[in-house]
Amino acid sequence: MKTYTVAAIPGDGIGTEVISAGIEVLQALAKRDGRFAFKVDHFDWGGEYYKKHGRMMPVNGRDLIKKHDAILFGSAGHPDISDHITLWGLRLAICQPFDQYANVRPTRVLPGITSPLRSVTDKELDWVIVRENSEGEYAGVGGRVHQGSPLEAATDVAMFTRPGVERIMRFAFRLAQSRPRKLLTVVTKSNAQRHAMVMWDEIAVEIAREFPDVTWDKMLVDAMTMRMVIKPQSIDTVVATNLHADILSDLAAALAGSLGIAPTANLNPERAFPSMFEPIHGSAFDIMGKGIANPVGTFWSAVMMLDHLGEAAAGARLMRAIERVTADKRCHTPDLGGTARTADVTAAVVAAIEGAND
Ligand code: ATP
Repeated sequence: MKTYTVAAIPGDGIGTEVISAGIEVLQALAKRDGRFAFKVDHFDWGGEYYKKHGRMMPVNGRDLIKKHDAILFGSAGHPDISDHITLWGLRLAICQPFDQYANVRPTRVLPGITSPLRSVTDKELDWVIVRENSEGEYAGVGGRVHQGSPLEAATDVAMFTRPGVERIMRFAFRLAQSRPRKLLTVVTKSNAQRHAMVMWDEIAVEIAREFPDVTWDKMLVDAMTMRMVIKPQSIDTVVATNLHADILSDLAAALAGSLGIAPTANLNPERAFPSMFEPIHGSAFDIMGKGIANPVGTFWSAVMMLDHLGEAAAGARLMRAIERVTADKRCHTPDLGGTARTADVTAAVVAAIEGAND
């Protein structure tokens, strides 16, 4: 029997609640399947770890997880610690050195869930946003001088490299090609940003030649926000820079009904390092410890993890279980207008997996 090693990093806030729910569901799935198992190693990194040790993860943290088959991540964020410390100290400290350059974010309106867009169905809103995850506006290039003086200055330089743009474009075109509609929108801002975004557009044209069966178009990011709301059915696969896709995917999550549902995969497509799977929501301290966090974003992230591990049939089984459960309004957590608790949703998904006769 194949055993997959998973590094679980629940992090902070509701991260701990949704990751333990996710592991429960994964173990039920492995038991139901019988052909594979999970060995889960837990790492207590995050805000509390920072308070004790002055860093978000140990110096050799990456060495401890680099041999795992996948990483399941909750959320990093702490009310007492600056966001840039929690983000750069843990999530980006894993994503960047592990070269997880493709951040993939599917969005669909799941059965039983109402989109704030009037009468939109899952057929009309079925998107995958590919976010460049290694450079661009979040490259970390920049500096700050003369702090405390009236002359204080700061820069964040958006850095785009030809190999970095080529590989994310190729990834996005390939993904679009694998989906039934073979449709890609390249998001840009080359009207106002006349260097890197112009190169981004040029590289899109070059890579498009390798994928003659993919229909693609180019869209300014501001116009894209309108198109997502007004013509959601005209969109399928989307590729955008780190910053643009960060914003667009939060909009996408809201349009799909709740931030609590949306999953994401940080992929190293070459598999030189483990890839990382996480719900897109943050640590949500306002609901921490109340037992009402929606675990669906983590379950859907687990589906993406199974697909990446080559266990597509098990991934499809989990997705069917999730959809069966969201279709039942009694299993909706408060973010979806219901009264169910994290444990109720988890138990319902486990029951759907155990009862599956496929
Ligand atoms: P961070 O600073 O770590 O990004 P945050 O609290 O600022 O965290 P999010 O956690 O992303 O931001 O979410 C914003 C709000 O959405 C939360 O305050 C919470 O009420 C709601 N929310 C997010 N995720 C969930 C979830 N899984 N279940 C229920 N509600 C959620």
